[in-house]
Amino acid sequence: MRLLYAEDEGAMADAVADILTFHNYKVEVVDNGEDALACAREGGYDGIILDIMLPRMDGLAVLREVRRMGDSTPVLLLTARSDVADRIEGLDLGADDYLTKPFVMDELLARIRAMLRRRETYTPDILSAGDLSLDPGRVTLSHGDRSVSLQNKEFQLMETLMKNPNVCLSVDTLIMSAWGYDADADANSLRVYLSGLRKHLAKIGSSVEIKSRRNIGYMLLC
Ligand code: CA
Repeated sequence: MRLLYAEDEGAMADAVADILTFHNYKVEVVDNGEDALACAREGGYDGIILDIMLPRMDGLAVLREVRRMGDSTPVLLLTARSDVADRIEGLDLGADDYLTKPFVMDELLARIRAMLRRRETYTPDILSAGDLSLDPGRVTLSHGDRSVSLQNKEFQLMETLMKNPNVCLSVDTLIMSAWGYDADADANSLRVYLSGLRKHLAKIGSSVEIKSRRNIGYMLLC
């Protein structure tokens, strides 16, 4: 399997390329959007991993151009945690999936395998937990035919909770998932957002609950 990987952070690009090579992918690494597009034009890739923030031409512009050429090579976007708008635009432009930075290598490998399996079909992954489903393309949370639109932070928090159902997550983990590393958010801001999410859950009639565990954290009880 031949992959094109566009990433301008050198250390990150080296680390990821090493892992992919170890897993028997042939990887071509470029460090800017123009080179990514030039390589994509030449074709012959089974999949493209595209960082959004790239010099000379950003990842979304590359993706737009690739799809405009009628090229349906699967594309996995790498996005910063806070860039929900970019992620939605990317999925609308025809990205197959996205992964938020920082990510663990196992998840990247899993997403690449899934991307290659799904080739030619574009369906963003809908996340399910209990009676809930979370749609990253439309940024909605649903129970049956009832859904609510989520704000950026609400989406990030819900995604983290739904990926870890019935597991108590620490306040730090949750803050990190929605606000990133250099967060100025604290336990109070988190509480405000979780209270908003509880209202959404009630509104769509879900039986899933967000339980707090004093001095420990929060758990999505499914
Ligand atoms: Ca970058």
